[in-house]
Amino acid sequence: MTERIDGHTLLIGLMAYPIRHSMSPTMHNNAFAKLGLNYAYLAFEVGNDKLGDAVNAIRTLDMRGSNISMPNKQKVIQYLDKLSPAAKLNNAVNTIVNDNGVLTGYTTDGTGFMKSLEDEGLNILGKKMVLSGAGGAGTPIAIQAALDGVKEISLFNRDDPSWENAERNVKIINEETKCKATLYHLEDQEVFKRELSDCAIYCDATGVGMKPLEDLSLVNDPSWFHKDMIVYDTVYSPRETKLMKIAKSAGVEHVFNGLGMMLEQGAEAFKLWTDKDMPIDYIRELIF
Ligand code: NAD
Repeated sequence: MTERIDGHTLLIGLMAYPIRHSMSPTMHNNAFAKLGLNYAYLAFEVGNDKLGDAVNAIRTLDMRGSNISMPNKQKVIQYLDKLSPAAKLNNAVNTIVNDNGVLTGYTTDGTGFMKSLEDEGLNILGKKMVLSGAGGAGTPIAIQAALDGVKEISLFNRDDPSWENAERNVKIINEETKCKATLYHLEDQEVFKRELSDCAIYCDATGVGMKPLEDLSLVNDPSWFHKDMIVYDTVYSPRETKLMKIAKSAGVEHVFNGLGMMLEQGAEAFKLWTDKDMPIDYIRELIF
């Protein structure tokens, strides 16, 4: 690291709270080192209260940009100059690029999810997706899948404060894309089972399966799955969630955790900052 840092090194940040657990600094700094790029990536614990000052510092310090995570993904928009079309539809930003003081917000979570399927040689375009969750992960997944050409999305959400967001996501998809989206109550288990029976992919973007809910799964009966579907959990810690175990016990071949999405959302941000491709296989080997 010390060999790489000099008077020309450009800084890239990660602004979120809490954030010390993040894998992003390791991912990006190793990729910079591998390609000999003169950047450094540092995590800053910044919540909503200090966000305006922190974003202004990107301009003041001539940083190349930043990643943005919870709780700042929506709040950050007011401090930026421009938004990418996908960030606008998502009403959320996870990546900022600074071009000579002009800050543009992007969202790379949705494209990261879609790219991770492509990496596995899987294509869900023109097919039906069942998705649970409409928060920071579920929203970009739904919107990018619809933008890319998934034919139909059945979105399930429980009756909690994110229900309004689920309604917004379905409305935007139906108004702005050719995909047909329908919102259902997660509590309506018969409908959930019915929708799963003929889908090409089920994606759980709720965080159920991760601490403190690691013993839980939204689907508990393996017979709700069929062998030729994809089951995708956005959780990556633990590496194998209860949902994934149940899907495997049903004979589902294509079962994934959220590591591929995590890697590909980082790779897209990396490309936006450096105009270079992240050495994905090297990074996957190194940290995953
Ligand atoms: P969030 O709090 O923004 O949204 C949570 C969503 O899950 C909401 O729709 C909520 O209704 C639903 N939910 C929460 N608890 C539930 C429960 N017990 N039963 C049913 N529904 C429930 O969270 P988020 O930022 O969207 O994160 C969700 C998960 O996605 C987390 O596990 C997170 O680690 C993961 N994630 C992964 C990546 C990746 O790159 N792989 C990126 C972002 C988030």
